[in-house]
Amino acid sequence: MSAQLEISAKVAQFLQRPAQILVGGEWVTAAGDTLQIDNPSTGEVIAEVGAGSSDDVDRAARAAQQAFDSKAWRGLTPAARAAILWRVGDLIEANADELAELEMLDTGKTFAAGRQGEVPFAAECFRYHAGWCTKLEGHTKDISTVPGADFHVYTRHEPIGVVALIVPSNGPLVQACWKLAPALAAGCSAILKPDEKTPLTSLRLGELMLEAGVPPGVVNIVTGTGEAAGAALVSHPLVAKISFTGSTATGKAIARIATEDLKKVTLELGGKSPMVVLADADLDQVIPGVAAGIFPNAGQICVAGSRLYVEAPVYDDVIAGVARIAENLKVGPGHDPATEIGPVISAPHLDYVCSMVESGVDQGAQVAAGGERVDLGGGYFMQPTVLTNTTQQMKVVQEEIFGPVLAAMRIEDNEQIPALANESRYGLAASIWTRDVGKAHRLAAEMQAGLVWINCHAIPDMAVPFGGYKQSGWGRENGLEGLLEYTELKSVMARL
Ligand code: NAD
Repeated sequence: MSAQLEISAKVAQFLQRPAQILVGGEWVTAAGDTLQIDNPSTGEVIAEVGAGSSDDVDRAARAAQQAFDSKAWRGLTPAARAAILWRVGDLIEANADELAELEMLDTGKTFAAGRQGEVPFAAECFRYHAGWCTKLEGHTKDISTVPGADFHVYTRHEPIGVVALIVPSNGPLVQACWKLAPALAAGCSAILKPDEKTPLTSLRLGELMLEAGVPPGVVNIVTGTGEAAGAALVSHPLVAKISFTGSTATGKAIARIATEDLKKVTLELGGKSPMVVLADADLDQVIPGVAAGIFPNAGQICVAGSRLYVEAPVYDDVIAGVARIAENLKVGPGHDPATEIGPVISAPHLDYVCSMVESGVDQGAQVAAGGERVDLGGGYFMQPTVLTNTTQQMKVVQEEIFGPVLAAMRIEDNEQIPALANESRYGLAASIWTRDVGKAHRLAAEMQAGLVWINCHAIPDMAVPFGGYKQSGWGRENGLEGLLEYTELKSVMARL
């Protein structure tokens, strides 16, 4: 018997808010219909939001362009912008309980995951980027083309203009902040489109950003589907740049449309990240580390370590240990404090995850743990699953499942490790587990992945650039590299 769902008065009131979008600093009714939002832990409808149409996107784009042209934001001193972004971080922290509760209801994450992890991280994202406002600077250059003449030559990083920020359902608040904070630190105006299944914390964030003093029109939020609001944003002529996080299939579709008018595009896409365990690794660290690399958020993490390669001498011990953890993790609704693994995001996605496990079994994989959906009388739950006897050609090894499913393989010849790990169309992340520092760094250099962890997995940090090789994306988020993605570089050459 799992815990009763109790909703705080503040969140209950928020859930009753009219289905409005944020345009030009005002909350307005969307021209389109409404969308129902359900709680993946129960399957019950908890709120309605606006289904933004192309007209709504047009209104938002015009408001964002007007704010950009007016210099209401980018014309502020860097210190003034920094102060406002810092205040957004403070307001996220001050409203952390409410945000964590909303995220729990909207995504099925546990309250603790939001309150202790994602919400503080979202606040830190704004503070980190507040710090960059006063440090975004160009260079001076000495030139050689015209000997004997004096030149003053310098570069400037200028905000790119109106940016469309499209985010997925697995970390709605954090993903929104990862885009809004650098976009605003660079001086851009933004239109945020949250995922249609998980828009609630984005809407609350919009309120907090206005409260912090972000001028009207600098941040606009249009809820709605990918097909309507998302597609309209991607093709809108006033949008200068698209920053997208989501599946590789959608990323490719966006890239194709953006090519029409050569919009700048950043794509943070899918992954099938390998975890490589060498025989000398500390298994006390490896076994919980591997489990923590795949099962949190019900495996719905872009960098989830969904492929496990283990050297033969320690293979049986590692599999037995990870399978034991999988079997003991408590699957349940996000609102139950005892829950360790919540639901996946939707009923169709649960069907997909189950079908992938079935395909693995059909192709010869063995189930060492889990493998079944969990019926809790509502909601979309899947057992943490460990598949062994998998091979490189199987769908469970090549395709992103985005669920709590680990595909494990025994490595007989360690010379093959880089080739096996890199045999994927994805290249988002990887981890290497070993006590041998030399092997660790040599292998890290071989990995075709945007982020390689050694003796850990899936630890993000605002300072660390993040993004994909191959079909895991274009460009980077976080760090100075991520901030610069929201700027154009201008060179100025003055003959004195
Ligand atoms: P998705 O591609 O279905 O949707 C993501 C967003 O794109 C949503 O807001 C959706 O409405 C919008 N969208 C859909 N079609 C669109 C279109 N034609 N035009 C414009 N927008 C459109 O992704 P999802 O299934 O919700 O998310 C899971 C995927 O996201 C996984 O592949 C995961 O790996 C990836 N992801 C990547 C990262 C990263 O940083 N690399 C982070 C989180 C998730």
